[in-house]
Amino acid sequence: MDLVRIRFGPAGKPISFKGPIVKVPQFLKSIGLDAFEYEAVRGVRISKEQAEILGKEAEKNDIAMSLHAPYFINLSSNKEQTIEKSKQRLIEAAKAAYYMKARVVVFHPGYYLKYTPEEAYIKALNALKQVSEEIKDSGIRNVWLGAETTGKKSELGSLDEVIRFSQEVDLVVPVIDWAHIYARSGGTMITSVDSVLGIIERIENEVGEKALKPLHTHFSKIIFRDYGEKEHVILSSKEHGPEFEIVCKALLEACINAVVISESPILEQDALVMKKIYEKLKGEMGK
Ligand SMILES: [Zn+2]
Repeated sequence: MDLVRIRFGPAGKPISFKGPIVKVPQFLKSIGLDAFEYEAVRGVRISKEQAEILGKEAEKNDIAMSLHAPYFINLSSNKEQTIEKSKQRLIEAAKAAYYMKARVVVFHPGYYLKYTPEEAYIKALNALKQVSEEIKDSGIRNVWLGAETTGKKSELGSLDEVIRFSQEVDLVVPVIDWAHIYARSGGTMITSVDSVLGIIERIENEVGEKALKPLHTHFSKIIFRDYGEKEHVILSSKEHGPEFEIVCKALLEACINAVVISESPILEQDALVMKKIYEKLKGEMGK
């Protein structure tokens, strides 16, 4: 029996696949992947019917689905109207996720702009509590709101904030983008197995079970500047971090199930590179 299962898949339509979106799960399975993050980053445009077909195809091919919500979400805006629209976009994304049997709706919480981090956090917290209630009232089940650790220092979404959202809103779970944490920390975090284990332990202790069944994560290498994230780059770019081996070893050592979504510019190809590293380490570590 395997002690741990880590799934891998692309953030968005695989670049080497040209067919319809509903055929993506079958394609991913055929190349050896087992997760797919549907990108609704420019708006939720998939119909209910298409989403349901996608969900069935995913189930048939054992592909774990997630959905990335639109980028135009700012739950800490100083404009009431923007917050309202952001809430609606998140609810719409949760509905689409429900239809396609996606477990997590990944979203970026917002921006600090004129607010202090605490003020921005409280604004977004209130909005998220309302979204959480509306989702429950609408009959959507088994969909979590995944607050992602963001890559720029101007964005709400530090590891602390993401953990805190997960503690204070029942439907929120943390989504750990390892490259973003690395970029935001100026390359000082995600540099050793122990540093990653420290983050996993915090999630285990401070959030608990809902975050770990499985832990939803993003990975790529990244170029950063003083302000944080600049761009995601391919795994073979030697001069950039973080290293997937480090993250993978920590996940295996902590013995937690996880999903790793590749945000590399070569999506599924780097997902396969990561899977290879995982299988090698898994064998060596006896997990
Ligand atoms: Zn994201």
